[in-house]
This record gives sequence, C-alpha cells and structure tokens, in this order.
Amino acid sequence: CGIVAYIGPKEAYPVILKGLKRLEYRGYDSSGVALLNSGLKVYKKKGKVAELEESLVGKDLHANAGIGHTRWATHGEPSDRNAHPHISANGKLAMIHNGIIENYTQLKGELQKKGYTFSSDTDTEVLLKFIEDIQLNNDCGLEEAVRIALKRVTGAYVIVLIDQDNPDTLIAARKGSPLVIGIGKGEHFLASDASPIIEYTKEVVYINDYELAIIRPDELILKNLGNEKVTPFITKLDMEL
Ligand code: GLU
Repeated sequence: CGIVAYIGPKEAYPVILKGLKRLEYRGYDSSGVALLNSGLKVYKKKGKVAELEESLVGKDLHANAGIGHTRWATHGEPSDRNAHPHISANGKLAMIHNGIIENYTQLKGELQKKGYTFSSDTDTEVLLKFIEDIQLNNDCGLEEAVRIALKRVTGAYVIVLIDQDNPDTLIAARKGSPLVIGIGKGEHFLASDASPIIEYTKEVVYINDYELAIIRPDELILKNLGNEKVTPFITKLDMEL
C-alpha cells in the first residue's frame, strides 16, 4: 500500500524507515525492506512498521540503496512470507509492488511449467519471476526485461526493483498507482506520495502511467514502454513539513 526507496550517499535504512512511518496512515498489514550493500539483504514482517524496526535492532543495516514497502494484502494472507520485498529465483533481484497483477494466474502457470517455484502466494512474486525469466531468455538488461514484461501484464501497479549486479541503479514503473520521485543533490527518493520526501527536497517528478524510471544517484531517466525517452517534468512542492 505504500512504497519508499532511496539511492545516494545517505544511509538508506533510516530514510526508508521514516518514510514508511509517514505512509502508515494509508493502512497496511505488514512491511519490509531490501538493502543493498555488498550483498542484498531482505527483511520483512507481518504487523506494524515498529515491529519490523524492533526485529532489526543489532543487524548490519548499512546500505546506500534500498527499497521499503507497506503491504495491504490482495493476493495471499497477511504473513511474513507474503510481505514484500520479494526475491528472484537467483537471489539477485528484490522487488516491491503496490497494486494488483490481474493475469498473474496465467503467468504463474507458465512459469511453473518452466520449473519455477514460489515462496509466497502473491501476484508480486509472479511478476518478479516473470521479469527474471525474460531477462534470462533474452539475455538482456533488467530495464529491457521490465519493459517487455509490463507489455504482457494487466492490472495496476507501482513496482520498484533493486539489482545486486547493478547497485547504482533502481528501476521503477507505474500504471494506475501513484509514484513520486524526489530529486536531491546526488541522490533520489521514491515514494507513493510526497510526505516521505518533503523533508529532503522540494523538487519532485510525478511519474505517469506506462513510464519506466531508471534512477541513479545523480541521474533520472524516464522512458515510455516503447523505449523512448520522456523529459521529466519537475514540480516544486510548496508544502510545509
Ligand atoms: N497485490 C500485492 C500483494 O497482495 C500488493 C498489495 C499492495 O498494494 O500492498 O501482495
């Protein structure tokens, strides 16, 4: 139901945690984070964001890139294993998703025939493994795999992916669910609305439906699903904290 992500010189975890708390008003049943340091670490928990936070005390949470999620279950009961982020079969990709993938049963069937197994009941894990499979078969980059996958997906979504093999890049896309990107100095913030971003920057870009964002600390590239670049339209927020 809410997403927050960060890439840049700051510690990602505190930014994400604070952001998830700001999005709590939207309602949720579980939460989780994926943090990328030398490897990818994923932590998720049923219940309040504060419970996730408690379970992480004492862990090495150092990372300059990460994604966080609060879930409002639509496919699969609220539980630790159905909480986001979800992880790809090769363990290198993590993804968060708000919304619903309507044709996930069909996609899941296709993937199961190919030998994929699933560790959750979510539509989200199906989309992630669908993207992973496209990347493997086409021997292409993650960006292209996401683009190809989204052309076959029906439903509403915001997705954000983090990739262990490309630690300086987040990939995000949306259709029908909101996504705001905050532009800092050498850093970017992503969230479902501006409330987690406003304390860091007033410059934001609202992503449109069927747009893909390639986000690096000092670069934001927007493309449509036809792989054409779209000029980001920067809005100045005048909200106070
Ligand atoms: N459909 C996904 C799930 O049930 C995402 C739900 C959400 O938007 O939080 O896990």
